[in-house]
Amino acid sequence: MLQLYMPLHFLGFVYREIKHSLADMEKMFSLLAENEEIKDDPDAFDLVVADAGIRFERVNFNYEPSRQILFNISFDIPPGRNVAVVGHSGSGKSTLARLLFRFYDTTSGRILINSQDIKNVTQKSLRAAIGIVPQDSVLFNDSIYYNIVYGRPEATQDEVIAAAKAAHIHDFIESLPDKYDTTVGERGLKLSGGEKQRVAIARAILKNPKILVFDEATSALDSKSEKAIQTELKRIAANRTTLTIAHRLSTIVEADEILVMDKGHIVERGIHRQLLAANGAYAHMWELQQRQEQIGLRLTDDIGQK
Ligand code: ATP
Repeated sequence: MLQLYMPLHFLGFVYREIKHSLADMEKMFSLLAENEEIKDDPDAFDLVVADAGIRFERVNFNYEPSRQILFNISFDIPPGRNVAVVGHSGSGKSTLARLLFRFYDTTSGRILINSQDIKNVTQKSLRAAIGIVPQDSVLFNDSIYYNIVYGRPEATQDEVIAAAKAAHIHDFIESLPDKYDTTVGERGLKLSGGEKQRVAIARAILKNPKILVFDEATSALDSKSEKAIQTELKRIAANRTTLTIAHRLSTIVEADEILVMDKGHIVERGIHRQLLAANGAYAHMWELQQRQEQIGLRLTDDIGQK
């Protein structure tokens, strides 16, 4: 019995850990599909993503009945547009993305993609429509090729290489001892944060989804890698419906709408310019980050002069 219990117990642990983070959503589905709590409706149909507008309609949510996490959340992301969510840690930003993937069902309210309630569509078609660039990509202990092709397993080798080139990681891969066959991950070659993120970008480019979720890294990469990655993200987000969970406000200045969350509520919303003019929570966060960046720059200058 114990022999059976331990692996099941472990799987349960892995499932909870992965489910908690956005980092490895896709991995979870491949490894632990049988462990899903959310079931397809018997009449579920495949999502039609032609025009992938997203609508959150008066969404309330709690993980545990004793503590409500999201309160009456409504917003629209028109097809091809980008909505960014900002707010303190724990304000509920990642929970929005988890609900969009239907990791959990809303307590009340609806989430619609292209006017279809995501509760009525097959989870497979839902997840095929959404690509994620997580803040901290966990790579499979497998070849770097596998880690990219995972985005669309039927892709050809030429397509994988094209995606790697588009994510500016091809030259790096070519410099590795076994090139695309190099094992990466925990037990293989350790990649830097920026390299891992590029692999995730290549995977997302290969998947070519209508909807993208960017979960921005909290830990800053060096500013050169940061800029390069931002440019790539912008390029792949063009014409895709995008939800960005942002930590650095400088990356979302051009978002079509910014939602400011606090303790599960949307407390402010608008475009960057409007939010600055409103002089509220967003403007305050902006000022703080600007100041921090200036201090950072000055420190770098000082070090450079020594
Ligand atoms: P961060 O910026 O730190 O990633 P966030 O704004 O994305 O934070 P969420 O991850 O959405 O915040 O979490 C919102 C709240 O829900 C937090 O208080 C968190 O503790 C709680 N929470 C998250 N996952 C679970 C879970 N699986 N069970 C219970 N509570 C959870």
